[in-house]
Amino acid sequence: LSAKGKTTYKTINPELNSENETVFYEAAAEEISQAVELAEEAFKTYGTIADVKKADFLDAIAEEIEALGEDLLTTYVQESGLPAGRANGERGRTTGQLRAFATMLREGSWIEAIINKTEGKPDIRRQQIPIGPVVVFGASNFPLAFSTAGGDTASALAAGCPVVVKSHPLHSGTSELVASAVIKAAKKTGMPNGVFSNLNSHGIEVGVSLVENPSIKAVGFTGSIKGGMALCKIAANRAIPIPVYAEMGSINPVLILPSALQTDAEKWAKNYAASIVAGTGQFCTNPGLILGIKSAWLDNFITILALETDKIDPTCMLHPNIKSQYESLKSEVLGQEGYTQQTTLEKVVKPNYALQNIITVDGETFLKNKTFHKEVFGPFSVVVKCDDIQQLNKIIFDLEGQLTGTVLNSDLQEFDNFKEVIENLKNKVGRLIYNNVPTGVEVCSGMTHGGPFPASSDSKFTSVGLTAVKRWVRPVTFQDWPDQLLPDGLKDKNPLNITRTVNDILTKN
Ligand code: NAP
Repeated sequence: LSAKGKTTYKTINPELNSENETVFYEAAAEEISQAVELAEEAFKTYGTIADVKKADFLDAIAEEIEALGEDLLTTYVQESGLPAGRANGERGRTTGQLRAFATMLREGSWIEAIINKTEGKPDIRRQQIPIGPVVVFGASNFPLAFSTAGGDTASALAAGCPVVVKSHPLHSGTSELVASAVIKAAKKTGMPNGVFSNLNSHGIEVGVSLVENPSIKAVGFTGSIKGGMALCKIAANRAIPIPVYAEMGSINPVLILPSALQTDAEKWAKNYAASIVAGTGQFCTNPGLILGIKSAWLDNFITILALETDKIDPTCMLHPNIKSQYESLKSEVLGQEGYTQQTTLEKVVKPNYALQNIITVDGETFLKNKTFHKEVFGPFSVVVKCDDIQQLNKIIFDLEGQLTGTVLNSDLQEFDNFKEVIENLKNKVGRLIYNNVPTGVEVCSGMTHGGPFPASSDSKFTSVGLTAVKRWVRPVTFQDWPDQLLPDGLKDKNPLNITRTVNDILTKN
């Protein structure tokens, strides 16, 4: 679908601080309706086609994305200011995700077939089915892997849900190229028209109208708390409310325990300097909060961390607006009393580049002033010097929900002293990491990329990894249904040869 609304706009090359050439058209109202109507029509067939056919479609999307070659990488770099190496890596992650979902579909057990057949009782059989057409909002900070054919789209298509993408205005060219690859793949593999649409917009109207549309059954979003919450409210106020799976803010606390400070201060300082600055700090898993207990060892770690962070050359942010938001969020924090500046503020940076910044506060100040808890999207981190374990525990207990929580340690016996702290941390996060950095999210079936609010709007789900498919399905139970009318996954003879739960036993029968 090519958008031909009245409003036009251009993307920006943040590196050059100038507009890119291509003119994009915001989707007109009739195009929004058409995309949704086609998606609804497509659902009638796509919702029930064989998993192996959906798998072929996902594999074909990956191939077509690769076939875009250098054009895609060049456009990505021009629209995001991110380096070519990152573009290449993210393309691999995106095609890898699509192929992983294809493999999951071919294996087939993801439908969670459960069969209860007992003499004298009703025959009860349950499996997951797709919920219908969904809307995916492309994320600014991952123009490929969390955008047009990213994890939300791949998982929804795997589930059997047609997808309407509201592309992110920061990388509309990248989105259109990827959309062309998806549409080519759909045609090649015989998918119904409307299984996928990409709509451009440069304001909130297109997104609002999509979420309000009664034919849309769920929404996937990655972005700001403000944007995510606005969509949650719109969805909740519909005559028939729908779920919004929004991944929003997180500062990803890192506990550096005394043993790690004593044995590995330099290693962790170097690793964390690199992690804070990676991707110009524009990762949702950026370590924005580091917590330790006051000691000369902690001071030593902070000194090295600041030195190592200062050594790294600043890099470009995604867009002038993201840069100005970084500056204003940072100013809000730096306008507070009671912190100590650790990194240098003296460096001159190019327009749209972000100077990394690390500050320290003591535990009491952090507990009293919630401004220090705020996500500053960019290369910014707060190190908190706690008085003791009790204060550290209180800080963790008071924190908002997070995507990740990390523990650095070099003596397992030390855990006895921190049992309650770690338990509290577990209750706040979607992923607990031991002796590593939080940046870098593996795409695999065990991954949880989500967490208690505001990390995500529903902590029961993940937006990365194979179980992301669960956001787009619902269970249906067939009672006493004739075998030949059951879906293949529930038939007596198990023609799909999938693992099922039969009379509460996991089996391939
Ligand atoms: P955003 O402002 O939340 O926007 C994301 C998408 O949602 C865009 O397509 C936007 O549309 C749409 N949107 C926003 N508010 C909306 C509303 N009220 N109704 C309907 N649609 C709405 O995020 P962003 O543009 O990516 O970046 C802005 C800030 O978000 C960043 O500076 C950062 O603080 C935060 N962010 C956080 C993460 C994270 O992982 N934690 C990731 C990305 C961004 P339009 O742009 O067309 O208006």
